[in-house]
Amino acid sequence: MGNKKSASFKDAVKFHGHSCPGLAVGYRVATIALRELSSGRADDEEFVAVVENGACGIDAIQIICGCTAGKGNLIIRDRGKNVYTFYNRKTGKGVRIYAEPYYKDDDDDKRFIELAKKDVLTDSERKEKSEIKERRIKRILTDPEEKYIKLGRPVGKMPGTARIFVSGRCDICGEKTAEPYLKKKDGKTVCPACSNELPGGEE
Ligand SMILES: [Zn+2]
Ligand SMILES: [Zn+2]
Repeated sequence: MGNKKSASFKDAVKFHGHSCPGLAVGYRVATIALRELSSGRADDEEFVAVVENGACGIDAIQIICGCTAGKGNLIIRDRGKNVYTFYNRKTGKGVRIYAEPYYKDDDDDKRFIELAKKDVLTDSERKEKSEIKERRIKRILTDPEEKYIKLGRPVGKMPGTARIFVSGRCDICGEKTAEPYLKKKDGKTVCPACSNELPGGEE
């Protein structure tokens, strides 16, 4: 571990905006990753996370591991899975972490699903639901990790460091755009937005 004080689950809640089971899973995953790869929080790009979902847990990874979208050492490849792969660039080591999103093995979970299906909750049901959620968060944070977490070797190569691009100007909107994104269209240099090539087409 690095010699910097690591962020707590409380810090993650503050950053994320609320406490939830997804954030708790992300917190567990983040602390395991730092432990497995003997790394402290990343100030720069030395620690990289490739995450396979776009859910709450990612916020814990950003604040605990220092892998952030802006630094380019958080790569989101959303495949709807609770899989997180971490690499330490200094040692070349990596770890793939799979977490079961939740486990349906007790009365709490059954009751939670029942309550979640109801359109309208009474005050006492609402209180019950939030108590179950609190218990679930606590369980995620304190259960032995073997109960829902599997560690393995990374699949695939370590991602390259963030690239810095020269920008060119789009002939249609006049806005500067990183060069690899610019395309030639009818003799004009066009950005993805102007050539209607954004994911999902026109906004
Ligand atoms: Zn959340
Ligand atoms: Zn444009």
